Amino acid sequence: MTHQSVFTIREAVARGTDFLKARGIETARLDAELLVGAAVNLDRLGLYLDMDRPLTDSERAAARELLRRRGAREPVAYILGRREFRSRDFEVTRDTLIPRPETEELVDIALAQLDRRFPGSASRFRLLDIGTGTGVIAISLALELPAAVVVATERSAAAAGVARRNAAAHGVNHRVDIRVQDGLAGLEPPFHAIVSNPPYIRDDEYAGLMPEVRDFEPREALTAGADGLDVVRMILAGAPPLLVPDGFTLLEIGCGQGKAVAQIAAEAGFHEAQIVQDFAGLDRYALLAR
Ligand code: GLN
Repeated sequence: MTHQSVFTIREAVARGTDFLKARGIETARLDAELLVGAAVNLDRLGLYLDMDRPLTDSERAAARELLRRRGAREPVAYILGRREFRSRDFEVTRDTLIPRPETEELVDIALAQLDRRFPGSASRFRLLDIGTGTGVIAISLALELPAAVVVATERSAAAAGVARRNAAAHGVNHRVDIRVQDGLAGLEPPFHAIVSNPPYIRDDEYAGLMPEVRDFEPREALTAGADGLDVVRMILAGAPPLLVPDGFTLLEIGCGQGKAVAQIAAEAGFHEAQIVQDFAGLDRYALLAR
């Protein structure tokens, strides 16, 4: 007979929230809900409907372990191994960048541009995603454009494996061709669009990143040389001959990089450069066409 008091989901979330707050985590309550939810195998709605349910001893131990990891600044997406992107569920691992909301908007811009530039094409597009990571951009485009074929490159073989599993889980593995390669060699033109969320952080910014990012996400997915534009230069130098005449390149960029990217694009032979702001009003996307 044990005298240990009953420990409910409500108490686990409350204690978890306090624990994470004390460690300076701003999203303490949300994170505690997600992690306690994972420990008891409930989503957030289920959690709210079952707040008075007691945890078993093993659930309690599991919750403690997940909260400990978050308290050490590990991102929730890595702890859960999942992240939502455009309302769809994706596997993420520490070999991949965690998809960001800004990148969801990149997909919207790409879809709008395809629609505008190629009316009546019945979306029979060939698209190229460079540095696909988890595959979120390539897979989202394939899902929104059921007649499109997407080639996606990724230099990390481990990340490419994650992208392939995500493509299969979403039923588009026959239309998303994930290739392990660095650079653009061997990609067969023509493409209607080239999209990428490349690494664009400057080397000197790296040490000052949030610990969640700096200590957990793969550095090669984040930084790109002294000005953060090494990968942008690589992409833009090779992009023009890969595109159909009305095709475009759409890149996610850092908020101070618009001018520099437009300059690199002009030198690479793009005559049209438009810098687009994200939902926070910051320069975030470069839309480039010939
Ligand atoms: N394309 C992936 C994403 O946007 C990975 C990008 C990267 O690793 N830089 O999430």
